[in-house]
Amino acid sequence: MIPPPHGGHLVQRVASAAERERRDAELRDLPQLPAFIDQLYDADKIGTGAYSPLEGFQGADAVRDVVARGRLPNGLPWTIPIVLPIPPSAAGTAGASVRPGDEVALVDRVGRAIALVRVEERFALDRSAIARSVYGTVDPAHPNVADLLAAGDTALAGPVTLLRRVEITGGRPDPTPTELRAEFEQRRWRTVAAYQCRNPPHTAHEYIQRLTLERSEIDGLLVHPVVGRLKKGDYRPDVILAAYEALVGHYYPAERVIVRPLGITMRYAGPKAALFLAIVRKNFGCGAYIVGRDQAGVGNYYDPFACHRIFDEYDLGIVPLRYGETFYCHRCGWMATDKVCPHPASDRLATSQTRIREALASGAPLPTEILRPEVVEVLRQPNVLLTE
Ligand SMILES: [Zn+2]
Repeated sequence: MIPPPHGGHLVQRVASAAERERRDAELRDLPQLPAFIDQLYDADKIGTGAYSPLEGFQGADAVRDVVARGRLPNGLPWTIPIVLPIPPSAAGTAGASVRPGDEVALVDRVGRAIALVRVEERFALDRSAIARSVYGTVDPAHPNVADLLAAGDTALAGPVTLLRRVEITGGRPDPTPTELRAEFEQRRWRTVAAYQCRNPPHTAHEYIQRLTLERSEIDGLLVHPVVGRLKKGDYRPDVILAAYEALVGHYYPAERVIVRPLGITMRYAGPKAALFLAIVRKNFGCGAYIVGRDQAGVGNYYDPFACHRIFDEYDLGIVPLRYGETFYCHRCGWMATDKVCPHPASDRLATSQTRIREALASGAPLPTEILRPEVVEVLRQPNVLLTE
């Protein structure tokens, strides 16, 4: 069935058209904070309910609970702090000096107000505690730890009012939980499995998606690539979407699979990110969540199966669908995992994203044995990887 949102209620903090018009007219009287793009995405997700039950950016007590026990103060599972640091680059602006009781407008790079925050708290962010507990490392080579270190040590907390959606690359907003829940209802999908991704699909992804679609309790599959701010070397958002649309359009029944973007910044926190990403998908109405090997990992910071085990520690009210490492076996003549294939490593072809990236970076031919030709077509366009 379509699960209730995390905490039981879908948060809605989007200004009506009339309110937006009124608030936009008052903006010149409000302090403005040029926020990081990550926090603009977060404001968008708070406002539209994707982060339910969060109504705003978290304060010191909530952050302490998330860091110490992976829960909100009320006990609900929550593993990634959602905070609003004041960017060091904003020092000296009116927005950077706001105090509790003030209202501040979060503005994007072109000065457009995205959201309002009624400031309830101004507090010191314990960045090393967050890095250690959430990311499991204080290594500045970790992309999100680097972000934390660059973020400044003072944060604001308080409820958000979203004035306008944040567009993702390609110039369109991603669907809200309300919109996707309505789409599931309209399609008569009761149990939807969410597939988290941030890369174009190869045969290992496809195998896991097919295994999921074969399950009798699954009505539909939501392919939900994260396409907010990514890191250098990631695929361009429009490439990820086009590659998936090529796979889904040619190889899956149209009535069982949809591809929709999710505009958030990727947190490469391994198990804690996997749990967080599952909570977000629950808010979008998904009753099942696919967890592959080393989900949301980066480098070698995480045990590749810690992202499976964390779902034993928390009851989210949705079903984790856990899959092991997938490969092509020459002896079996099929895609397989250790659960169904007895053959040695010499018979197996690893379907690694690294091989595809290396081919793209060096201009070598793409490994067509692990990519559908329609996906290869998409990847053959120039500059598919982000260079900054
Ligand atoms: Zn085999």
